[in-house]
Amino acid sequence: RGRRAVDVPALVERAREGEARSVARLISLVEDASPALREVASALAPHTGRAQVLGLTGSPGVGKSTTTTALVRALRQAGKRVGVLAVDPSSPFSGGALLGDRVRMQDHAGDDGVFIRSMASRGHLGGLSWATPQALRVLDAAGCDVVLIETVGVGQSELEIASLADTTLVLVAPGMGDGIQAAKAGILEVADVFVVNKADRDGAQQAVRDLRYMQSLGGRYSEPGGWRPPICRTVASRDTDNGIDDVLAKVADHRSWLESSGEGHRRRAERAAREIEAIALAALRARIGDLRGSAALGALAERVVAGETDPYAAADELVARL
Ligand code: GDP
Repeated sequence: RGRRAVDVPALVERAREGEARSVARLISLVEDASPALREVASALAPHTGRAQVLGLTGSPGVGKSTTTTALVRALRQAGKRVGVLAVDPSSPFSGGALLGDRVRMQDHAGDDGVFIRSMASRGHLGGLSWATPQALRVLDAAGCDVVLIETVGVGQSELEIASLADTTLVLVAPGMGDGIQAAKAGILEVADVFVVNKADRDGAQQAVRDLRYMQSLGGRYSEPGGWRPPICRTVASRDTDNGIDDVLAKVADHRSWLESSGEGHRRRAERAAREIEAIALAALRARIGDLRGSAALGALAERVVAGETDPYAAADELVARL
């Protein structure tokens, strides 16, 4: 692609009107850390802060895509504008290509109230923690009432998702040993709502009991005035009577609690602090990188070699000069 100048204000205007192509273009700009990134970020800022962010996490095969699709359908029926970010930390591919695989796009083809985007974070500086919040801001500014972030349940990503979301749904399914896996990965700590999907299968009741038992062991659930994550049962693959309305009701309860307890604001401030931190660290890293081969660094290195100073003191000097 050439270095065609980007008319950022026009792009943001069209995205706010709900034009899908402009939304996609803006996400690409922020994801690729384009030179227009700063201008985009500043143009988006006044229009952000409204979207409710829901994170979905759980082991592969538990039904995240199916549940996302069902949630989108229910939210659309309620007249909400919805964004979906399907994040695959192991994939080098971004953009539209893989959408059809993860979220059943065809269900929403031609619906201008839904924006779906798959994001790969492998190879991105700072990975998920860097690119996803930027994409979130785009969808927020584009007027999405709700943004769903779905991740394949791998490693650190589910914890990162939780740090981005207002409400985190942790999905488990019967007979997958999910309860134990969840405890191991620490995702019990991040769940705001548990969803036992595939409730049409044997063992769903047992999965609910396992989760209740784990909750009874204490942890953050026992804090006074704290939020005790409810446990919902779903059959996401069904079109009706699938339990999704109950999930949305629990999400609404959680939202009320976030507001009344002040936790919602605390989470958003924490999220912004992390974002600033990540950007500042990247900037510092770049500036330190620029010093490689510089005269200042060379001179300090000579002094360390000569025993006139030690590497720690030299590093302090270097940082102080930045
Ligand atoms: P993901 O990897 O977590 O995104 O899982 P998917 O949404 O791709 O679902 C994995 C498989 O489980 C698919 O074949 C779904 O059709 C199936 N599935 C999803 N939800 C249910 C459910 O509630 N009941 C049953 N029996 N199958 C389901």
